[in-house]
Amino acid sequence: MIIAIDGPSGAGKSTVAKLLSRELGFEYIDTGAMYRALAYKAYTNNIEIQEDKIDEMLKTTAVDYSDNKIFLDSKNVEGYIRSEAISKGASKISALRNVREKMVELQRKIASNKNVILDGRDIGTKVFPDADFKFFVTASAETRARRRYNQLVRTGARTNYKNVLEDIKKRDEKDSTREISPLVKADDAVLIDTTNMDVREVVKTIADIVGGKNVL
Ligand code: C5P
Repeated sequence: MIIAIDGPSGAGKSTVAKLLSRELGFEYIDTGAMYRALAYKAYTNNIEIQEDKIDEMLKTTAVDYSDNKIFLDSKNVEGYIRSEAISKGASKISALRNVREKMVELQRKIASNKNVILDGRDIGTKVFPDADFKFFVTASAETRARRRYNQLVRTGARTNYKNVLEDIKKRDEKDSTREISPLVKADDAVLIDTTNMDVREVVKTIADIVGGKNVL
């Protein structure tokens, strides 16, 4: 079974998806982490984010996601991919056609024959248009920026709320207007606005919908 959770940055998708995967006993795949890992490789190797340069990079790059961990060339890079610089790079690199083709193929492969929850931007529209359940999780830009800011501060990053809000708005704009697989709610996705909800409420809302269909 496939559960697709899409939505903009900072809506709490990954926290919700992780908790839900534990509750339901499903595997979890963080597709944003894959784009982040590629951005991290480009960043650390001084590779410009352009189609031809990234094409070359992809030839010798292995990305994998298993056991709630992201692997880049067999190394767990979870600790390196959440900075603001890598967030920007991920947004840029994920707009490239060759990158998307490769990542979508990989996501389909990793998820095959499993019960999986995937979170991202295009899971319900492109990666798994026939997913059993689709959710579009969102919140106001200010709420998302506040959550992301708190998260960054917790990890020791030096930043300020205004910059985080600007970044979120820029990434929203970029993700929603790109030519290939833009961030858009699938027609048949359930919309969940988490502006005034806490994580447990969101998890419960989704679990009730999934469980309510007697599929568990
Ligand atoms: O979800 P997260 O913020 O980690 O994703 C990082 C970036 O990767 C997003 O801003 C978006 O540009 C891109 N992304 C994407 N498609 C996905 C997941 C993430 O384009 N399925």
